[in-house]
Amino acid sequence: MEIEKGFKEVIETLTEKQSEKQSENQSEERTDITSTPQRRYVREHSTCAMCESTLEIRHDVNRADLKVKEEAHCPSCGIRVRSAHHLMH
Ligand SMILES: [Zn+2]
Repeated sequence: MEIEKGFKEVIETLTEKQSEKQSENQSEERTDITSTPQRRYVREHSTCAMCESTLEIRHDVNRADLKVKEEAHCPSCGIRVRSAHHLMH
């Protein structure tokens, strides 16, 4: 447990140093918003893992327990990806 915690701290420190370096070096390329990790996540999240088609994302609102069920469906190969249940506030 203790070793794992220490290891995580080292990783976090390394990642922080890396991102500092990157922001210094890539300051001119920062206009490309598609290269940010957040954008990349959204892209991966909305594309089919099998055929890379754009997924059709549907939100089912369950008013009884105030949860939103997010369901992605690939129109090309028909797989269904179910993601997080969001709690509405
Ligand atoms: Zn697909």
